Amino acid sequence: MASCSQRSFSAHRDNLAETLRTTGDRTCRHPVTYKWISRFLANRADELINLKEIAASSKRPDCFLVRCDRIITEMKTQSLMFKIGKNISTSAPRLMEMYALAVGRLTLSYSGRDQYAEEEDEEAMERRFERQPQHAENADRLTSVVCDLDSFWLRLNWPVDGCYCSQCEKRRPFMN
Ligand SMILES: [Zn+2]
Repeated sequence: MASCSQRSFSAHRDNLAETLRTTGDRTCRHPVTYKWISRFLANRADELINLKEIAASSKRPDCFLVRCDRIITEMKTQSLMFKIGKNISTSAPRLMEMYALAVGRLTLSYSGRDQYAEEEDEEAMERRFERQPQHAENADRLTSVVCDLDSFWLRLNWPVDGCYCSQCEKRRPFMN
């Protein structure tokens, strides 16, 4: 039986992941500026900090807080870098999708019994082998950051030292 804080955690996590996903879909049809992404990511970082606090009293895998901090750091860094950009970003949908998967696979379960997180995790793993967009020849700094989704994926998916949850174990054989 899931405890109250676990249910609350799941509800907030699902909600945040779906916000990232639906926003990514929307930016496909209605492209947004870097500046818009900057504001959006700053707000999502705050929500992720809340999610961390909700999970504070629960049992959780050793990687949980590290993974939350990794995502928060990425969001805050990108938020700063995109702040001054008036250009339209064509990479927003992919970026948001990767954030959605990183948030969606956060779990309080060691053993993969969190079905939502497991499905997100499987999809995150599949994305590893997708061909990432190449750097444009004369890309500005902002475009380069968004285009470098390959290293972005690695930073979000690297297994955490000393954690033996099912998601970290799944990544270890081919990432060490
Ligand atoms: Zn782990």
